[in-house]
Amino acid sequence: MKISLVIPCYNEEESLPIFYDELKRVSSEMENYEFEMLFIDDGSKDKTLSILQDFAKDDERVKYIAFSRNFGKEAAMYAGFCNSTGDYTAVMDADMQDPPSLLPEMVKILESGEYDSVATRRVTRKGEPKVRSFFARMFYKIMNKVSDTDVVDGARDFRLMKREMVDAIVDMCESNRFSKGIFGWVGFKTYWMPYENVERVAGKTKWSFWKLFKYSINGITNFSSTPLKISSFMGILFTLISLVMTVFVFVRALVYQDPVQGWPSLVCIILFIGGVQLFCIGIIGQYISKMYIETKKRPHYIVAKTNKEDVVKK
Ligand code: UDP
Ligand code: MG
Repeated sequence: MKISLVIPCYNEEESLPIFYDELKRVSSEMENYEFEMLFIDDGSKDKTLSILQDFAKDDERVKYIAFSRNFGKEAAMYAGFCNSTGDYTAVMDADMQDPPSLLPEMVKILESGEYDSVATRRVTRKGEPKVRSFFARMFYKIMNKVSDTDVVDGARDFRLMKREMVDAIVDMCESNRFSKGIFGWVGFKTYWMPYENVERVAGKTKWSFWKLFKYSINGITNFSSTPLKISSFMGILFTLISLVMTVFVFVRALVYQDPVQGWPSLVCIILFIGGVQLFCIGIIGQYISKMYIETKKRPHYIVAKTNKEDVVKK
């Protein structure tokens, strides 16, 4: 049996050696399994690539695929899945937040045959800023309400999957990728393994609050058309309100002979409706811009350097 590990790395020179040592330790304990370590260098600006090349010199299990620029973690994971050949494939961060020591237990669960994938879920958000936790919770609530794909609160990308599931994910070739949604969308039986949140060993997180915010909006528009329904609903609501108002003004004019009044309120109403219209056009625009990107069918990533023969490009 062969296990492929997909590891997206972006400026991870500090944590990579620690991570690799731990991987070597864990893999030596799992003698019955062959390993393939696919490090995806996502256009790092530090020594990440040369560190990976050093690993590869002494260890033929290490394969690296270096992108021509930073394409983002989603593209890096996709490149890893497209190039993984193992019976089982795991995706994990290079910063030790996804502890390799959990692998033996995850493999055991897959071996039992009952599940197709083992995913991890952190039970605490210890060590995370309070505001970030709050917004993260809100995001999961909204996401689960508006989309029919299950996105588990606290779910990490760290998971081990059988070949069938990886193939299904590779077949989903959309440019706007949101893995948490994709994992849920393809289905398959998933075992959720809870664990305590671990902080990254070295280096800094690549996710600013703004980047996370954009990512979450992307997640919602990728897996739900509810925002579009909200704009249709607002259209109907305001039409009804205007009907009621028309009757009101009409009756008032007939009964009190007082038709011309309320210029300020009229301006407020016009501005309000104008705002709502722009907001709705914006929502439609979000979807159209996604369609625009999808129709271009640009490659997901561009490989600049690799030690893998016949690297799959998508
Ligand atoms: N990563 C990547 N490309 C990016 C940003 C991040 O490949 O543009 C990798 C990064 O090297 C790490 C993983 O994705 O292995 C998770 O990133 P990070 O630890 O910064 O995110 P967090 O754990 O804070 O959510
Ligand atoms: Mg991390």
